[in-house]
Amino acid sequence: MNKEERLLTPKQRVGWRILQAVVWLVGVAIVGALLWKPKIGIDAFWNVLIPVAPALLVLAPGIWRNICPLGMTSLIPRRFGFSKGRKLSVATQAVFATTGVLLLLLIVPLRHVIFDLNGPATAKLLLSMAGIAFLMGVFFEGKSGWCSGICPVHPVEKLYGQAPLFSPPNAQCDRCTKCVQPCPESIPNGHPLSVEIPLSRVFPGMLLVGGFPGFVYGWFQVQDQAKLRDGLGQLAEAYSWPLGGLLVTFLLFVILQKVLPRKDHPFLIRLFGAAAVSCYYWFRLPALFGYGPFPGDGMLVDMTATLPGWFPIACQLITTTAFLYLLVFRHKPQAIWTHPPAFATDP
Ligand code: SF4
Repeated sequence: MNKEERLLTPKQRVGWRILQAVVWLVGVAIVGALLWKPKIGIDAFWNVLIPVAPALLVLAPGIWRNICPLGMTSLIPRRFGFSKGRKLSVATQAVFATTGVLLLLLIVPLRHVIFDLNGPATAKLLLSMAGIAFLMGVFFEGKSGWCSGICPVHPVEKLYGQAPLFSPPNAQCDRCTKCVQPCPESIPNGHPLSVEIPLSRVFPGMLLVGGFPGFVYGWFQVQDQAKLRDGLGQLAEAYSWPLGGLLVTFLLFVILQKVLPRKDHPFLIRLFGAAAVSCYYWFRLPALFGYGPFPGDGMLVDMTATLPGWFPIACQLITTTAFLYLLVFRHKPQAIWTHPPAFATDP
């Protein structure tokens, strides 16, 4: 066993299995609520689970990888022995990585016109993703098709999870079959540009690292639309702000990459990751308590009459400082998402 490996003890395995089952059932309950109690479902999914996720990806992406309900759905075929387990070629991995980034950029703006306001539509989105995740698990080996393939959250995991504070053992792979190379869970200080060739694998990473801060900023400049009053016009607004922001910061990133020496690129990538997640909480945390740019949008509970006027700026300064520290300045070498299991070929 190499020094990074940390195998689960039987007791830990049972503990993780129980946690995985509980989180999977919570996921099922949220889908049920989205269908039949949409107000509760929307709050549970868009205003509790999703706002917590980016911070978890910064602090401990390995925990998310161990318990994500969609990830578990995609691994059902492997766990029950009916996955065909096809190996992905490098070219197909590049196609899947690009698809993941494109799905992310396609789905997130639709929140303003559909998903933030419509529980059943969000449930159908989640069920469709669960179906695709399952099929990926049926055909492709391990996590290569979904978790490390076309999952639209995976690019964000790579951007935010560059310097985790905590790395649990891998509770999904009992033995490593090298389903993806390199495995994103055990590359020290991995990021979306860790894979340097070919260009088809590098480009989606560059687009995400450079463009995501602007995309997040642009997304918060658009109001939730109660109805598609003039369909195409509102769709254009929902997409133009995030994609315009993406273009601006992507160009800035490309210029900085050209002028900075290569040794500073990891710092630059961490800085852009910190900018994206800080920008998210800059708007999102105050909005949860009624201080959003558009009153009522993304609000969990209205605390504007209770909390002091300095609450939003205090949140913004604290979260921005924390993420700059965690991602940029507190550089922890050799940080990994999960401790890898032994290889399947090991004795
Ligand atoms: S640990 Fe091995 S089997 Fe598991 S996701 Fe990574 S490469 Fe695939």
